[in-house]
Amino acid sequence: MDDLTAHGVLGKSIAHVYRIEFQKRGLPHTHILIVLRADDKFSTSEHIDKFVCAEIPSSIENPRLHEIVTKCLMNGPCGIETPGAPCMEAGQCKNMFPREFRTETTMNVSGCPFYRRRPGDTAFGRGREMDNRSVVPYNPYLLLKYNAHINVEVCTSLRVMKYIYKYIYKRFDCANMVLTAGQVQHNEITNYIDSRHVSAPEAID
Ligand SMILES: [Zn+2]
Repeated sequence: MDDLTAHGVLGKSIAHVYRIEFQKRGLPHTHILIVLRADDKFSTSEHIDKFVCAEIPSSIENPRLHEIVTKCLMNGPCGIETPGAPCMEAGQCKNMFPREFRTETTMNVSGCPFYRRRPGDTAFGRGREMDNRSVVPYNPYLLLKYNAHINVEVCTSLRVMKYIYKYIYKRFDCANMVLTAGQVQHNEITNYIDSRHVSAPEAID
């Protein structure tokens, strides 16, 4: 967190908010929203390219980053050929992968840019040859430092509000359970009780 706030890896931060999620049996992960000062806001393609990449790095020039990206930042394989992939919903990837090839980063009216994804670079991962259309956007500095799945996205519009409400203020999972030896008795009041679901990793935390 200090990298993003005190040290300003993406620019000088003037405000931030984060939420840690546990998601059932999974390891905890965090969603962080950083508001940058006016001078550091991402307003040009060149500025975005300096901090956020969506391409497989060269295995010769940057072997460690290449290894981390191909291991942690590739979506899929998914699509029509892999309908059983976890990211597939109703015949489509819910994360909108694979994306389209693009020779340069362009801003989008919705405020979320289309990142540069040039054709050519490929990597073998998860039993299949994958290209830049499947790379989850990342910041090279953070990946090299933490060697983990860290998705970094630029958001310059009011869509940020959607992000806040979806992740930052998402309420806890709930579960209503009754263990009984006899017949199940419907009890509306008991069913109404708001029970917080706490996973094992969260309980330990
Ligand atoms: Zn997918």
